[in-house]
Amino acid sequence: MELKELYQEIILDHGKSPRNKGKCDEYSHDAQAHNPLCGDKVHVYLRLDSEKKVMDISFEGEGCAISLASASILTETLKGKDLSFTKKVSEDFLSMVKNKTKITINSLTEDQITTITSLSGVQQFPMRVKCATMVWHTFLSALDKKN
Ligand code: ZN
Repeated sequence: MELKELYQEIILDHGKSPRNKGKCDEYSHDAQAHNPLCGDKVHVYLRLDSEKKVMDISFEGEGCAISLASASILTETLKGKDLSFTKKVSEDFLSMVKNKTKITINSLTEDQITTITSLSGVQQFPMRVKCATMVWHTFLSALDKKN
């Protein structure tokens, strides 16, 4: 399978059956965003423990396949991880989409890197960049906000 097809398949899979959809229990942080250009809406919920680990993370949302896939991939990748790690992944993701850099975090598995990188195709479609990046910005703004 060509890389392009593999990427397509990953996005379709996550878009059709998003992981961690719904409100997670006893969340400590949340934030929401809306992309009027595409009609995408997302609300991110997460629970941080006293050691700054993302114990649980989920989202509610509606919109195009890319926005749902990106939210699904975000929650799957960041669940159970340390805060500093989740920030680094988010920054790497945003830089990948905007500046065409590569994901370089050692502690991600090969599979996780492939999954995240599947969204890099939006670089060629300026209108879709926001579809992919919105949930990552929303995650970062949720961290800055305390309920
Ligand atoms: Zn969209």
